[in-house]
Amino acid sequence: MATMSLNKINKIYPNGVQAVFDFNIDIEDGEFIVFVGPSGCGKSTTLRMIAGLEEISSGTLKIDDQVINDMAPKDRDIAMVFQNYALYAHMTVYHNMAFSLTLRKEDSDVIHERVMWASGILGLTPYLNRRPKELSGGQRQRVALGRAIVRDPKVFLLDEPLSNLDAKLRGQMRKELKELHHRLGVTMIYVTHDQIEALTLADRIVVMKDGYVQQIATPEELYAKPNNLFVANFIGTPPMNFFDAKIDLDGYVIINALKVDISHTEIFKALKQKGYFGKEIVLGVRPENIRIAKPFKGATKQEFPTTIQLYELLGSDALVHFNIGKKNVISKINAREILHPGDEAVFSFDVEHLYYFDKETEVSIYD
Ligand code: ADP
Repeated sequence: MATMSLNKINKIYPNGVQAVFDFNIDIEDGEFIVFVGPSGCGKSTTLRMIAGLEEISSGTLKIDDQVINDMAPKDRDIAMVFQNYALYAHMTVYHNMAFSLTLRKEDSDVIHERVMWASGILGLTPYLNRRPKELSGGQRQRVALGRAIVRDPKVFLLDEPLSNLDAKLRGQMRKELKELHHRLGVTMIYVTHDQIEALTLADRIVVMKDGYVQQIATPEELYAKPNNLFVANFIGTPPMNFFDAKIDLDGYVIINALKVDISHTEIFKALKQKGYFGKEIVLGVRPENIRIAKPFKGATKQEFPTTIQLYELLGSDALVHFNIGKKNVISKINAREILHPGDEAVFSFDVEHLYYFDKETEVSIYD
């Protein structure tokens, strides 16, 4: 069990590339932290610095208040699980899991007890005599986790551990990982480029871009209150729709020829106070906050006419594509409303759930 803190951690590779800038976080004992961001944003570099596989250029890394910047990886009491989990092909599941303890010259009774405990937790007991090639992808991934948990480390680091699995198995392993974390109560740091994995697994998510932390928040906070355009765009599928827009004194946000009434919202007052009247902003709307339906009697001025471009059934939901001006927009609605390409329809925005961004700084504007 361990807390961890990263204080102004930077990484400059010998070739001059700065991969991480001033990374700060205090991680609580037992937290499940996920680093997420597009490829090359510095997630693995940060993880590898924590593991001790990469030197820290500057800043302080602590576990339980002890500075470990210069501590050898083997002394850090950290276990790491990689994407290509590289099991020993000639060894049984049992011996794969026992390996690190054997190296440490643990007592064979202790080793046996640890392996049986881990295999029980991971549902691997029936497979202990098999070799990796006689296992499914999910089982192999569990053995890789087993190798890490037998050591009973203070902290687990996981670098895209599920990306070699197919979508269904990934979903199942996500659930198992979450349960494993719950059971072990151990601090975990997990790296992924997949925002769904981040949302489903994390207690807190760290969103990174170009070596900089963009936001650290719970999944709920991140979805509801992204700090900036990048986070807003990165979190959520399908992504948020964005429009160049203008705030009008009379209480409207104007997108092309549309005047969307926001006069009664809290944010309208805030936009006024912050000097955004008459200014260009970026408006964000999540697909689930755009309603679209066949034209109906009693439609108000805030229900705007359009033509359906595409209707994609997802099961209980459907994605509806249409255009505002030249811009393709996606709405996510209940699939009970069936629409077809070419159909006339009306759409409206849930004005209590619109997002506003400063056009220059791309920072979110909240009330
Ligand atoms: P991520 O894990 O988010 O995909 P990485 O941490 O692997 O990103 O990489 C961050 C940046 O550092 C990238 O620009 C990458 O090209 C660079 N980088 C990674 N490893 C090295 C290295 N050994 N030498 C130089 N640059 C590197």
